[in-house]
Amino acid sequence: RLAVYARLRDLPAVTRDGVRIAIHMNAGLLLDLQHLHESGADGIGLYRTELPFMARSSLPDVAAQTLLYKKILDQAEGKPVVFRTLDVGGDKVLPYWNPYEEDNPAMGWRSIRITLDRPAVMRHQLRALLRAAAGRELSVMFPMVAEVAELIHARQILDMEIERETRSGHPMPTRVKVGTMLEVPALALQLDALLPRVDFVSVGTNDLMQFLFAVDRGNPRIAERYDPLAPTMMRFIRYVAAKCREYDVHLSVCGEMAGRPLEALGLIGVGIRSLSVSAPAIGPVKTMLRSLDVAELQAYMESLLESPDHSLRHKLRYFALDHGV
Ligand code: PEP
Ligand code: MG
Repeated sequence: RLAVYARLRDLPAVTRDGVRIAIHMNAGLLLDLQHLHESGADGIGLYRTELPFMARSSLPDVAAQTLLYKKILDQAEGKPVVFRTLDVGGDKVLPYWNPYEEDNPAMGWRSIRITLDRPAVMRHQLRALLRAAAGRELSVMFPMVAEVAELIHARQILDMEIERETRSGHPMPTRVKVGTMLEVPALALQLDALLPRVDFVSVGTNDLMQFLFAVDRGNPRIAERYDPLAPTMMRFIRYVAAKCREYDVHLSVCGEMAGRPLEALGLIGVGIRSLSVSAPAIGPVKTMLRSLDVAELQAYMESLLESPDHSLRHKLRYFALDHGV
């Protein structure tokens, strides 16, 4: 099968009815970059910057971060990379930096809440990203945004850094694109205010499931209790996809479900056209996409989305079997 997937590398992810689906890769280590070229992914749709922060005994300084981000961009060889700013707290603990015990760390002081409260950390990371991307395009994505005001605040910090770097004569990126994760359900109720302010949105279905269904993403006892292929979740994503089309804002899904072929099929059926998945998932997802008829799938899913079913999994599996997907 690996040989089959290797042959797929240079074939585009185009469905039988001619719909081009972007497949990007999730990464978090410099090592992952080798898979970018092996897999034929269109780019890196989610670069989790927190891993090097977690592996050290203190915060990396601007110079160390600049060096690392530059290596990542160099190794991407011109393919786009979306850098997500520091997303620690919750299940990702910085040993040197999280002194509080929290009853509900997933809903606690984490992610953008930390970096907005400790703006020096955010500023140093953004400065390093701006320097690393000098002469190239930079894409920055903010995680765990729950309200538009947080995005506005984060953008102000970015603008300050751009101004500061420009004033001191540093070479700048050719363009800076700003995006947000959508992983807190409340943000979906603010899309009319959010979408004019961002260049792209990426749905983090791992946290989104956790918050939409109030189900701890790390608790094995309830891991199977709710299904991301529930009509509720599918309708939620259909709504976000329609809004992003209305505002012409690029949308992708970067949570783990995007890398599971049947769940990716569900996402395509509600309007998603860009996925970011782990490296090993690229071959299987591309195989599924190349045998899919999107128009047929979309019509079928429309007929299911109002049902009170627990999940559309069985129906979608039969659809896939029936249609040779
Ligand atoms: C997500 O929440 O779906 C996501 C992609 O981010 P992470 O898994 O890093 O929280
Ligand atoms: Mg998340």
